[in-house]
Amino acid sequence: MLAPGSTIGILGGGQLARMIALAAAPLGLKTHIFAPEAGSPAFDVASAHTEAAYDDLAALERFAHGVDVVTYEFENVPVATAEHLSAFRPVHPGARALGITQDRLVEKSFVAGLGIEVAPFAAVNDEDELVHALDHIGRPSVLKTRRFGYDGKGQVMIREEDAPKAAFDAIGRHPAILEGFVPFVREVSVVAARRADGAFAAYEVTENVHRHHILHRSTVPANVTPETEAAAQEIARRIGDALAYVGVFAVELFVVEADGGQRVVVNEIAPRVHNSGHWTLDGAETSQFEQHVRAIAGWPLGLTTRRGRVEMTNLIGDEAGSWHKVLEEKGAHLHLYGKAESRPGRKMGHVTRIFPEG
Ligand code: AMP
Repeated sequence: MLAPGSTIGILGGGQLARMIALAAAPLGLKTHIFAPEAGSPAFDVASAHTEAAYDDLAALERFAHGVDVVTYEFENVPVATAEHLSAFRPVHPGARALGITQDRLVEKSFVAGLGIEVAPFAAVNDEDELVHALDHIGRPSVLKTRRFGYDGKGQVMIREEDAPKAAFDAIGRHPAILEGFVPFVREVSVVAARRADGAFAAYEVTENVHRHHILHRSTVPANVTPETEAAAQEIARRIGDALAYVGVFAVELFVVEADGGQRVVVNEIAPRVHNSGHWTLDGAETSQFEQHVRAIAGWPLGLTTRRGRVEMTNLIGDEAGSWHKVLEEKGAHLHLYGKAESRPGRKMGHVTRIFPEG
């Protein structure tokens, strides 16, 4: 268990690291950010930062000696980096969770192996395998690179008329996975926390709407049945246990309606705090960022209770120009990430709005 006054080391310096650092401060904890990019948003709010590459072993070792526990804000931290750091300090979540969630094929196989439904899938390493997989899985389907995909990058939909070669070219001919298209009625996620001793707490299921593959809005409660709500939380608990996970994570799911009922299909696991959990900053008793800090510190998990009907809207690119209007709106909570430059598709901030229940 960490003592107040300890230092949390965070790999990655974006908005997620920034919000973890902001949540650590009132708990009497310091943060040290390790990130390669100059001017990273999290540097502004942390006690210390190191600007170095993730494969700079000497810098990693110095960083490890200056902190009490290591965590990260993004899943593409090289597994070798996490393993190197774990020789010196506890790394939460551990290298295994990272390894599984970095590779869509390994991740899907892992979830399916738990008896949890995922889209039908097949490994694709070359065009012949893609043709074969299309015969077997059918169309429409979605071809995704196994690694380094996010916000719809590295994936392409294959419809009836699409040629396999063009699809494989479109994803850069990287090792991939072909997934059957899931005819979902809505997309939801569960953000949950697990401690090393198995203590677990999930937030209510969040309903997510994307625009151009980027999260636009999250609302809670989600428009799902109580059975779906419980099933989704139970899936998160089982995944957390199977990974022996420590910290906050998110499970993204598709809701499918068939035979007069609903069922959920797991899309992916994010081994970190998640954009669809940003509503918890103002809308829940404990924010996902504080919860993550509590979980990795071995502290009691906080209440996940919602404070009303909550809506979180991302401010993407120039949308952040509306900051003044948001501030004028009673009851709206503005969060800006302090990014110097706005680019199309870049997450610049978000707004939460809390409405009375009912
Ligand atoms: P991902 O990068 O896997 O989170 O996918 C990004 C988005 O693409 C998802 O949020 C869905 O809207 C859509 N998508 C991905 N995979 C599938 C699938 N198998 N079936 C239907 N839609 C999908």
